[in-house]
Amino acid sequence: MSQSKAAGKLPVKNDLGFFEIRMESIGGLGANVAGKILTEAAILGMGMNGAGFASYGSEKKGTPVKAFVRICEGSHAVRVNSPIEEPHVLAIFHEALAKAIPVTAGTVPGKTTVILNTRKTPAQARDFLKLEGGKIGTVDAMEIAMATGSRVNMVMMGAVAKASGFLDLKALENAIQEAFGRKYQALMKGNLEALKRGHDEVKFEEFPVDGKYPATPFRREVPKLGYENAPIGGAIYSVGNMRFKDLSTSRTGMIPLFIVDKCTSCGECDITCPDYCFVWEKGKDRKTGKDGMILLGINYQFCKGCLRCTHICKFNALLPVKEAEQDLDKITVKHKFLK
Ligand code: SF4
Ligand code: SF4
Repeated sequence: MSQSKAAGKLPVKNDLGFFEIRMESIGGLGANVAGKILTEAAILGMGMNGAGFASYGSEKKGTPVKAFVRICEGSHAVRVNSPIEEPHVLAIFHEALAKAIPVTAGTVPGKTTVILNTRKTPAQARDFLKLEGGKIGTVDAMEIAMATGSRVNMVMMGAVAKASGFLDLKALENAIQEAFGRKYQALMKGNLEALKRGHDEVKFEEFPVDGKYPATPFRREVPKLGYENAPIGGAIYSVGNMRFKDLSTSRTGMIPLFIVDKCTSCGECDITCPDYCFVWEKGKDRKTGKDGMILLGINYQFCKGCLRCTHICKFNALLPVKEAEQDLDKITVKHKFLK
């Protein structure tokens, strides 16, 4: 890999000599890979030193992932392996994560630049994340990824490079080529376009610490249950706890849209759906007037966007559409027993 920039100096660093990036994501959006590529670009492409690593659960997809990148100048040794608590750049790959975990913990106004994958403006993102203040960037990474045939991680890497002020796009392009070029050459054009668009289209705004929202200091998340206090035999004491489950973070841009006029309540979608998203009620068939179970709609809280239902419905009553173009509050139908 060619070195696209002379071994450079960091624009800012913490007391230990590092520029630190934390990426908050969910399994499947590629934060782990993004962390590795950013690290490789800095080390092999820019003559710096650093480390990239991630923490994630046992599931392959759908659970929170944290990816960490620590970059220092070439002469500096890396002797720290702990998670990044107060990052210079915090990239949030999916806005629904903010509902599930304290993604903004450890952000410091004046130090941290927060980037959110969203259609919101930076001001709306600040209110959504309840940030104390500081620099906030927003980019519609899902839309760009879909338009370029790429992934959210490429767009977010471009935005992170812009926020860092020193990560070189050419070095990133080389690292992406190195990672995917041989095996997935056909995807390279889209990936590089997504990277560039993320870099060019992220919009930043700076907010003062005005008392609107409190500070969010870093706190280590401790699992409620561990080997010392888990119930014997793995018994679940909190009966019906699936009602709190929110699978929206698993979606990658598309959802099924229910077209009520076309539905015959045949039930095929319900058998196909792995997550019991469909809401039914006893009633009269819309066409024949006969008594039976009638499909009312979809509870998107449980929908992970696999789109299996759209393939199975032979009446075109379930269409794959972009989530960002729908008002989920309006089209979600709640199960009666969850209201
Ligand atoms: S498969 Fe289609 S027609 Fe049948 S119940 Fe589901 S949405 Fe309605
Ligand atoms: S997209 Fe998948 S999870 Fe969502 S309703 Fe359809 S089958 Fe169920």
